Amino acid sequence: MSVLPIKIYGEEVLREKAKAIENLNGDLVKFLNDMNESMQAAKGLGLAANQVGRTVRAFTIDLSHFDVLAEPKIIINPEIMEKSDLVVTGEEGCLSFPGLYQMIQRPNKITVKALDLDGKEYYYEAEGLVARIMLHEIDHLDGVLFIDKLTAAQRSLIKSKLVRIKAGERV
Ligand code: ZN
Repeated sequence: MSVLPIKIYGEEVLREKAKAIENLNGDLVKFLNDMNESMQAAKGLGLAANQVGRTVRAFTIDLSHFDVLAEPKIIINPEIMEKSDLVVTGEEGCLSFPGLYQMIQRPNKITVKALDLDGKEYYYEAEGLVARIMLHEIDHLDGVLFIDKLTAAQRSLIKSKLVRIKAGERV
């Protein structure tokens, strides 16, 4: 396995819409495992495929932060089947925005349909921070970034930080 470089805000691939995975071949499984390893190396809670340069619909989430028995999980072709009406505000960061943390509103609870690494379909119910991470990562697969969710006031406050991030700085 290898650690892949993480794309930083400003790189075009972060704005591309990822395509569904139809054929889970060996090359793709290797990439997905590399993506997982890259998240762990960067100590992230989640990482989407386009953040490591490939526009396929998959992300990885480190559930061990929430349950000591859980392992990082690779989620393929995620689809949001249900969202709670209850929306909660919480702090988010993103490996493509080093050092930037912002308060973002998200549904508190979701049900996601996805495939596992054997191509088997399953449903996953997530709540709180796990739901937040999954929604953040699924947004990535649609080319949507967490800064898109900010209010106009929040955005104006971080303008100069975004310029610095684009220039390769940690803010
Ligand atoms: Zn992110």
